[in-house]
Amino acid sequence: MKNKPPVIWINATLFTLTFIAAITLVPLYGIFIGFNAAEWLCFALLMFISGLSITAGYHRLWAHKTYQASSPVKIIYALGGALALQNSALHWSSDHRQHHKYVDINEKDPYSAKMGFWYSHIGWMLREYHSQGYHDYKNVRDLQNDKIVMWQHKHYLSLVLIMNILLPLFLGFLSGNILGMFLLAAVARLVVVHHCTFFINSLAHIWGKQPYTNKNTARDNGVLAFLTYGEGYHNFHHIFENDYRNGVKWWHYDPTKWLISALSRCGQTWDLKRVAEERIETARLKMQLINASHKISHLPNKEELLLKLQYEYEHVKNHIVHYYQAHKALLEAKSKRLCHQELSNQVKILKENLSNQLKHWRVLTNNSYKT
Ligand SMILES: [Zn+2]
Ligand SMILES: [Zn+2]
Repeated sequence: MKNKPPVIWINATLFTLTFIAAITLVPLYGIFIGFNAAEWLCFALLMFISGLSITAGYHRLWAHKTYQASSPVKIIYALGGALALQNSALHWSSDHRQHHKYVDINEKDPYSAKMGFWYSHIGWMLREYHSQGYHDYKNVRDLQNDKIVMWQHKHYLSLVLIMNILLPLFLGFLSGNILGMFLLAAVARLVVVHHCTFFINSLAHIWGKQPYTNKNTARDNGVLAFLTYGEGYHNFHHIFENDYRNGVKWWHYDPTKWLISALSRCGQTWDLKRVAEERIETARLKMQLINASHKISHLPNKEELLLKLQYEYEHVKNHIVHYYQAHKALLEAKSKRLCHQELSNQVKILKENLSNQLKHWRVLTNNSYKT
């Protein structure tokens, strides 16, 4: 049997002790003594600050550079990241860039979902699986020029202790109950944020739909989006990692994207990157073709149906291209304050045509296997 790499005792102890305390001491305290409103409020506040520092800061700002942020915002992310206790932003981003570059390749993806739920959720942090190879941080050279990232990296341990021990103790001192505050706002909050964000590497690669790509295991899942501050739209994220949004539709629950967008209105974030709508729609259409082709693969007339599907696919794709080209031209004309009445009418007609084409396409792809 192959020898397993050595256990990282500090991680194993920390994860085990905090988890055991969160499922025993916290509920026992809640039942026999009870938590007050200030403790619940601090629990919720610190949960959001630490969770969003990981998703908006570590993930979308530093690992993927999907937008720019002011120094005060970056400092809050750096402190919130230390509060979340998921390693420094530099280390985290290095791992994460590796994950995107080599997704699902067990030897290179640090938390490959192909290694199973346990490994991708937490197991990868419990042993020295990737002790050599990429921790020279050469894939995060750009971040090494970011003073706040390097400050956090250098003082990471002190920041962790300040944020996870001193801050909750101080809040407990202010509210008049140190133990209750510590159990809820430090221990329970840490465990909840840990496992919710770990779900992005485990469940978001196992459970959900693949509307944009099937080239990797990443999934879109609204339930997980709720638990992960919007990161549950992971299928979209793995194909369009440079977009500051993960939930691309306006109704998708993505508090991380709302935060980044709200901060941009106050001038604290800028240069928010969005993938062209046309590319998103084309990717979705292609997946629908792939799924419909699978559904008909057992039918005797599959070749005939496939030709029909491919013909329609090209047709709809052309409509998408024409519509978005005209739409872009209209926006340009508007921004230059040019006369755009004719262009406006053209866009309206193209939009209507595209909508009809998409309806027809949906009927065809949904019914093709019943024919
Ligand atoms: Zn990512
Ligand atoms: Zn992933």
